[in-house]
Amino acid sequence: MSSQRCSRCQKIIHPGDLFYRLLIKVFADFDGVINIRNTNFDIKKEFKKVEALPEDLIEEEVFKEFIFVLCPRCKEIYCANPLFLPLDDAYF
Ligand SMILES: [Zn+2]
Repeated sequence: MSSQRCSRCQKIIHPGDLFYRLLIKVFADFDGVINIRNTNFDIKKEFKKVEALPEDLIEEEVFKEFIFVLCPRCKEIYCANPLFLPLDDAYF
């Protein structure tokens, strides 16, 4: 096993050191409601537009996954405020 670096601070993590994996999944969700404000909306036309896009671009709009390695200090910092909210508005 070789050394690796913390994705946040770049500290070297040696074999046997404590480290954490941070897995972030961002995916589209649907509440069952479709809001169509444009009365000229043509669903067939919209599907054709989507079909013309590259598959990986469409997939990225629906699902994106990130995997990071964190040292213990960066794990604490991340877990204290994972959405990087301004501290005045954060609820801990
Ligand atoms: Zn770190």
